[in-house]
Amino acid sequence: MIRIVTLDEFDAPVLKELSRVLYQTFGVGAEHAGPVTVPHGQQEPYDANKLLDTLPQVHAFSDDKVLFLTTRKLAPRKLPSGEAPTTGLARYDGQRVVVTAAHIKNVAENVRLLARHAMQEVGHAYGLHHCLDPRCAMYPQWTPSYPLGDASFCTFCREQTEAKIRSMKS
Ligand SMILES: [Zn+2]
Ligand SMILES: [Zn+2]
Repeated sequence: MIRIVTLDEFDAPVLKELSRVLYQTFGVGAEHAGPVTVPHGQQEPYDANKLLDTLPQVHAFSDDKVLFLTTRKLAPRKLPSGEAPTTGLARYDGQRVVVTAAHIKNVAENVRLLARHAMQEVGHAYGLHHCLDPRCAMYPQWTPSYPLGDASFCTFCREQTEAKIRSMKS
C-alpha cells in the first residue's frame, strides 16, 4: 500500500482526495499514516535527497511505498544549464518519495495538481520513467504545460504500473 506521511499540516479533505486518486491509479490501498517531524539541522528549502535519507522510519512492509508530503520548498536542482525547481523526488524502484505543495497556490482547490505530482514520484518508485505524452502524469514535471494536465496516466504508463504491481504480488 501507499502510506502518506505528512511533514506539515494538510487539510483532511486534501489527504482524502489524494488517497482516492492514488488508490485509483495504482490499485493498492493509500492512506494517511500520520505526521513525522523533520530531523534537526534541515532548513527550508530542504535538500530533497537528504530528506529521503534522514526522515524517520515509518512502519511499512517491504513492498509498501511511503509518500512524504511537505508544504515547504525543496531546494532547486543544479543543472549545467542553470537551476530546475524541485517539486518532488523519488528513488527509482525504491520505497521513499517526497512531494512538496509549496508551488501550489491553493492546495485545497487544486488537489488535482498535488495528485499529479504525487503520481509521478510514486510512479518512479514503482520503476516508471518519464513519458512523452503531455497529458500523462509521468510527463516531465518541469515543463510549462505540466500543471495544466490531469491526475491521470496514459494507457502505456497505466499498463506498466499494473504489470509492475502484479509482479510484486506474485
Ligand atoms: Zn520525474
Ligand atoms: Zn504516460
